[in-house]
Amino acid sequence: MHDSRAERRFGWAVHARHPRAIAYPGGMATALPPSSSGAPQVRPQTAPAASGAPQVRPQTAPAASGAPQVRPQTEGWTQKKDAEGRPLLQFASPKRGKPPAHLADLTPAERVAKAKELGLPGFRAKQLEKHYFTHWTTDPADMTDLPAAGREELVAGLLPPLLTEVRRLDTDRGDTIKFLWKLHDGALVESVLMRYPGRITLCVSSQAGCGMNCPFCATGQAGLTRNMSAAEIIDQVVRANQVIARGELGGKRVGDNSAERVSNIVFMGMGEPLANYARVMQAVRVMTDKDHGMGMSARGITVSTVGLVPAIRKLADEDVPVTFALSLHAPDDELRDELIPVNSRWKVDEALDAARAYFDKTGRRVSIEYALIKDMNDHAWRADLLAEKLNARGRGWVHVNPIPLNPTPGSIWTSSETSVQSEFVRRLNAAGVPTTLRDTRGKEIDGACGQLVATSDDEQAAATV
Ligand code: SF4
Repeated sequence: MHDSRAERRFGWAVHARHPRAIAYPGGMATALPPSSSGAPQVRPQTAPAASGAPQVRPQTAPAASGAPQVRPQTEGWTQKKDAEGRPLLQFASPKRGKPPAHLADLTPAERVAKAKELGLPGFRAKQLEKHYFTHWTTDPADMTDLPAAGREELVAGLLPPLLTEVRRLDTDRGDTIKFLWKLHDGALVESVLMRYPGRITLCVSSQAGCGMNCPFCATGQAGLTRNMSAAEIIDQVVRANQVIARGELGGKRVGDNSAERVSNIVFMGMGEPLANYARVMQAVRVMTDKDHGMGMSARGITVSTVGLVPAIRKLADEDVPVTFALSLHAPDDELRDELIPVNSRWKVDEALDAARAYFDKTGRRVSIEYALIKDMNDHAWRADLLAEKLNARGRGWVHVNPIPLNPTPGSIWTSSETSVQSEFVRRLNAAGVPTTLRDTRGKEIDGACGQLVATSDDEQAAATV
């Protein structure tokens, strides 16, 4: 499936999370057929409001521009179903050869044991941690505090190469770089490095592909190849820091004295992070560990999900208060069942309750990610319904980040009109819900996060490295 789909040009997925803007496979980007009646297709007029009372919707809500918003037809796309007729979701990772054992997969105690196994004193593991997590080196020649005898073996045993750079795309200013990496088994993943004033953000992948099957998302349509290991996740950060240290990330402004290293991580690349829970949490622990890891602030790390409710509740119980983002994309189950197949397991209200519980447990304000898709989910009444549902759970616990999809002319999955985006944001803010339209940085290089998927060009390039 991955191969044949890769014949077509993909953009990046949205976990809108993925500050992901979306381009869809070419097959969907063709002109849309008329409905059988020839009449425009319009969503039903009534749906239950949060209160349970029926909510009367205008049939064709006028956009801010005055033009009616008519939902695009979805003929030509059918939701993939499993053997029981439920929306297809792939939670288990297909079995593939394990990535090489690596320092970042191990606990500090296991690292010491591993050093001893290699015939060295345990404190050598601590030295290796420093080299890799804070000096971002895997070159034995740099590790002069380690005895020459056995140094190569130690490095080979605990810091095997994990990511091969296949290609790199950057923006004109050089302040955004998209990397394509090949893993040990040939699987391809991407990460995006972005410089902002005062911070440097890396959007990382947590799975090769994704099993959540969201129809607007290129990654989801390609399916799940496998879970990434904790070390494969961490190595994206180490490699990005190496690039920054070599001065290869542009866009630094005069007077910006912030540290030249990745300061913020968003799990909004390929994959559903909470479907790879244990490895993602191990990576987060390494990122935040001040003594044995990278010493990053948990607040600077954003873990996003399309709504795996039991895993959200588990995350709230961890002692690592990361920023939590729920990729909602629709406030009503009727539409969300279509846009986010995992909604067939956990409904909008369950996901929002879990998000609120995350705030209660951690005190960390939750982000709601909302990819604005033209005439699909960007109606004024949906902004109102979203505000109603969030306010019903209290004030001050949540922030909404609408993210325009990548413009894909002719596709049913394209970006909202600017005036519609503004109206959506205005309504939420007017209802007292802090809302900020997100930057889709890097969209000129298909670099809006979540839009990550390998193209046939990528696969050809990967075959040569
Ligand atoms: S298919 Fe996966 S990567 Fe794409 S939006 Fe859905 S959860 Fe995110």
